Amino acid sequence: MPEITPMKAVGFACPKCKCPLQPGQNALLCSECHLTYPILAGIPNFLAESELARVAPNYRWIQMLEFLAPIYEGQLWHSFILKTLAAARHSSLHSIASFISETLEGVAGFVLDVACGPATYGRRVASPSLNVFGIDFSMGTLKQGMTNIAREGVTGIRLARARVEELPFENAVFDGAICGGSLHLFPDTALALREIARTMKAGAPLAVTTFVAGNAPLTCLMKRRKNMHVFQIPVLRLFMAESGFEGFEPKLDGMFLTFRVRKVVPSK
Ligand SMILES: [Zn+2]
Repeated sequence: MPEITPMKAVGFACPKCKCPLQPGQNALLCSECHLTYPILAGIPNFLAESELARVAPNYRWIQMLEFLAPIYEGQLWHSFILKTLAAARHSSLHSIASFISETLEGVAGFVLDVACGPATYGRRVASPSLNVFGIDFSMGTLKQGMTNIAREGVTGIRLARARVEELPFENAVFDGAICGGSLHLFPDTALALREIARTMKAGAPLAVTTFVAGNAPLTCLMKRRKNMHVFQIPVLRLFMAESGFEGFEPKLDGMFLTFRVRKVVPSK
């Protein structure tokens, strides 16, 4: 009988120095930087309000998303964004969830869900053998996620408030990752992708959905927002390669793009 190695538990790490954190009273503590990260309503908060205003130029938009959190997964909202604004005739919440599940098929261990919103996709793939860590910088949206998780009795998922450029995890801990509907919102695409790659194991898959330039109303709306990227597919291909991912397979539906990549396995 081959010896079974117990799976190493993944926990939160200090987003500044990446050292493992120690549990404290309603907080996580970094013994290296002497920083304390409070836990609010079960959600570790790695982002102080003062820091958020400085680093997140899209903050006003995120506040609007907080207001939308309760209806974010509704048929009306998804139809409006996908079908009306992005001319994506074949995509739906259901088809996106299926695409993510297919990307993570056969993966066991730990999955990172970047900009997880109200845990829309993370809680659909979380299981006792596939534990999800969802991060987002909107506390209101995360609280909605906790409500959804409790209502549905989902196990194997944890949420934290953090930003993609400073993920609260050690290197190479995730067996897979999800980045649903947010890549175009990150101020520095390359920095965000490099940080996601840092936390992933070699060969781990990443499922992405985003919007690209096209002949749909969303292009005009996005171009008016100076902090939103309107990607061209060849540019995304370059971003992926330069950030340490391979196997870029884009699928376009109107302006809505889905693709999966893998973290490059270094040659020996
Ligand atoms: Zn630290």
